Amino acid sequence: MALLSLLKSELSGLFDLLLPATCPLCRAESPLIAPFGLCPECLAQLPPLPAARCPRCALPYATADGTPHLCESCLRRPPNFSRVVAVGLYHDLLRESIHRFKYEQGIDLDRSLAALLAQRLATETPDFRPELIIPVPLHLSRLQERGYNQSLLLARRLGKELQVPTAPRRLRRRRPTPPQQGLPLAARRHNLCGAFGLSEPLHGERILLVDDVMTTGATLRECANVLHAGGAGEILVAVIGRAPRHQ
Ligand SMILES: [Zn+2]
Ligand SMILES: [Zn+2]
Repeated sequence: MALLSLLKSELSGLFDLLLPATCPLCRAESPLIAPFGLCPECLAQLPPLPAARCPRCALPYATADGTPHLCESCLRRPPNFSRVVAVGLYHDLLRESIHRFKYEQGIDLDRSLAALLAQRLATETPDFRPELIIPVPLHLSRLQERGYNQSLLLARRLGKELQVPTAPRRLRRRRPTPPQQGLPLAARRHNLCGAFGLSEPLHGERILLVDDVMTTGATLRECANVLHAGGAGEILVAVIGRAPRHQ
């Protein structure tokens, strides 16, 4: 099934030429907006993150007043990544899209989501030139259950968009971790301790670390710690959805 979806995704460029264009989000037949391949209505519902956010981890603030400032968590424990770039807030249509992309074999969405993310990166971090794209890995048991790693699909598409090699096996998940959802932050951190490792050391490469969603950031922080300890240069995080606090 996953293979079929993957094949469909790979061939979708060809189908686009032969069939009336269908928006992968709302399934409406519509002229789609290049390079995202979405209809204008859906694209309008996917605005960038609000300007009031932490300049480091992109945590959105409830109020828009004041100058940009670091959030409490980045002040207390600065992460090993320099910045987080997201397509938008993890809610409404974006949340729905990620959910389909992740759980409902909705992988025909990877091109659109990667194109949107590439556009955000070009706008927000035009000077950052990654040398390697590394997806957050799934443990083999989860991979077998789901059939694919959504972060890897995204990383590969992003690699094509940015012309940067993807290193899918450099960062590894050494053991499965229980689902993080609903756990307090301290428990999430404990859950992840020692969960990741590098297959071989890095040599100062600038890394773009890719995942689908950032909620508390515990997973991405832990991955960045491992990359940093393993010799990475600057690490920047790219995600589709950034959750507000307490989600
Ligand atoms: Zn649409
Ligand atoms: Zn922050």
